[in-house]
Amino acid sequence: MYNLLNFDKYLFEKNQIKKNKIGKIIIIFGPPGSGKGTLSKKISKETGILHVSTGNLLRSSKEPKIQQLMSSGKLVPDKYIIKEIKKIFKNKDLSKGIIIDGFPRTISQSKKLDSMLGKMGLGLSYSIYLKIEKDEAIKRILKRDEGRKDDESKEIIEERFKEYNIKTLPLVEYYNKSRKTIILNGMESIEKNYKKIIKKLL
Ligand code: AMP
Repeated sequence: MYNLLNFDKYLFEKNQIKKNKIGKIIIIFGPPGSGKGTLSKKISKETGILHVSTGNLLRSSKEPKIQQLMSSGKLVPDKYIIKEIKKIFKNKDLSKGIIIDGFPRTISQSKKLDSMLGKMGLGLSYSIYLKIEKDEAIKRILKRDEGRKDDESKEIIEERFKEYNIKTLPLVEYYNKSRKTIILNGMESIEKNYKKIIKKLL
C-alpha cells in the first residue's frame, strides 16, 4: 500500500525533474591524489556541468564526529553523505548535468545512489575511474598545499589508502559489470584526460 501523501510527493518530484531536465549524471572515483578534484573542476569549468565534491561538502560541516573521522583519514558514515546528495538533487539546477567527485565511495553508497536515481526515473550516465600508482599519488599529495588536515601526516595518508583499497576499490568491478565506465590513467596530463572525457560527453 502506498502512503498517498508520499506517493503524490514522489510523483510531483518526478515531474519536476522531468520538466527541469537533468543532464548527464557522472561519478568520478580513484585513490587519494589521483586528481579527481582537478579533473572534475576542469570538466565543470568547460561544460557548465555542476561539480560536487563530497569531501568539500564535509570539510565545511560543523559536526565534530565528521571532522574527527576526516582528520584521521577514515570515511564518514553514509547517512551524512546521502543527506547532502539528496539535497543537491532536490535543490540544484542540474540541467547541464552533474559530476559527483568522491561519491559513491563504498558499494553500499553505490546501491543507495542507484536506488535514489531509480526512484527519480534517472540513471547514471558514466562512471570515471582515475587510476594512478600509489607512489605517484603520495608524491602529489605531499606537494599540494590545500591546507587539508588529512594531507598533514604520512600515517593519515596511509589510512586513506587503506580505506580506499578496502572500501572503494570494489567499485571498479561493480561499475564495470553494468555501467559505462571510463578508465583514465591519472599519470597522464589533465588536458589529455579531459579530452578523452569530453569526446564521450558531447
Ligand atoms: P576527498 O576530498 O574526496 O579526498 O575526501 C576527503 C574525506 O572526506 C575522505 O577521506 C572522507 O573522510 C570524507 N568523504 C568524502 N566523501 C565521502 C564519502 N562518499 N563517503 C565517506 N566519506 C567521505
